[in-house]
Amino acid sequence: MAKIIGGIGASHSPTIGFAKDTGKQNDPAWAPIFESFAKVRDWVRAKEIDVLFMIYNDHITSFFFDHYSAFALGVDDVWRPADEGDGPRPVPPAKGHAALARHVAAALVADEFDMSFFQGKPLDHGCLSPLSMMGDEAGPWGGSIVPLQVGVLQLPIPNAKRCWKLGRSLRKAIQSFPDENLRVAIVATGGLSHQVHGERAGFLNEAWDQEFLDLLETAPEKLVEKRLADYAVLGGMEGAEVIMWLIMRGALSGTVRKVHLHTYAPSVTNIATVVFEDLGDAPDPEEIAAYRAHMGYELAGAETLAGTYPFTLDRSLKNFRINDFLHRLIEPAHRARFRDDFAGLADAYGLDAEERALITGRDWIGMIRRGVSFFVLEKMAAVIGVSNPEVYASMRGETIEQFLATRKVPIRYSVAAGKNAEEIAAN
Ligand code: FE
Repeated sequence: MAKIIGGIGASHSPTIGFAKDTGKQNDPAWAPIFESFAKVRDWVRAKEIDVLFMIYNDHITSFFFDHYSAFALGVDDVWRPADEGDGPRPVPPAKGHAALARHVAAALVADEFDMSFFQGKPLDHGCLSPLSMMGDEAGPWGGSIVPLQVGVLQLPIPNAKRCWKLGRSLRKAIQSFPDENLRVAIVATGGLSHQVHGERAGFLNEAWDQEFLDLLETAPEKLVEKRLADYAVLGGMEGAEVIMWLIMRGALSGTVRKVHLHTYAPSVTNIATVVFEDLGDAPDPEEIAAYRAHMGYELAGAETLAGTYPFTLDRSLKNFRINDFLHRLIEPAHRARFRDDFAGLADAYGLDAEERALITGRDWIGMIRRGVSFFVLEKMAAVIGVSNPEVYASMRGETIEQFLATRKVPIRYSVAAGKNAEEIAAN
């Protein structure tokens, strides 16, 4: 059972990363930011934290309006800094704890949260500003992270109560992870009060920020009741992102000890850091066992189905490269190069010898066993003029005639739409 050691609240203003990268440590205007984060860093070190569970919002960098989701959990094992306009910040990639992420994914979905999952997407200042401050002259912080991106920038967004409930489930999720030595801290980023758009830009309310911090520690249920409009009125429209701090507080026990608090409002945001130590009792092993059974309930038994390869987050992460390569066959330029210059395209995507052999050998069952999604295979089949029933037949180890003889009507079809569709229809 992993241990939740405590929770951290930290602003994620881009000024934090800017100050670090431009060496403002000894500038009186910026020094308070460094002092503030140094206390957090010292606590993380002293408590020997292994994993920082980073709750943040992306700022329309890696998550755009073409597909905007509420709760997106990062399941990758490496996290790179994002380019937010002038190249990525000079910070090394962070290690991802993919196994914990997968466990949390299963738990939150079992608790009926409609999660989305991401990998390969770089992290912007929402996560990176506080994370980069966990390192020092000796180098970056050496632990690993699990990022949880909350979509708070395109309305409608989850409310405070939903964030709190997610935090309650997150507590059970982490405590049921089967590594009793793993020490986890929950980090909520964002806020405090600020507004950065419109005529109200520059709005700041330090009195509300203080009240928010007090309530967060001693009476978080009062914050849970507030509406998004209340947060916007009191702390600015963008300041309403502090609802993410309720996920962190919800993941802690009822009793916490505040061991650090610092605020500093030099410009348009009240930059704050706070650390709560969790004083809750160790979880009951019977409750943990029951929760694990609850997590596994939906899929228990599916692993014994012969000839069946459930497409899990584990398979997805291990095979992202080949799935990505084949998925891009929906792009005309990629498709043309796939047909005309396969070796060059495979080089460009770094496919290994096994992946190339699977594709060129049209080894459909080999690709399924390896962890390729059927739904990119049918795109590849469409591109090379192979019908879906031929793929099914091949996976079953049958000829197309044998397979068609098992159907009521021996038809062939494909997701192809052009010339290949016509050729398949003509056969
Ligand atoms: Fe923000």
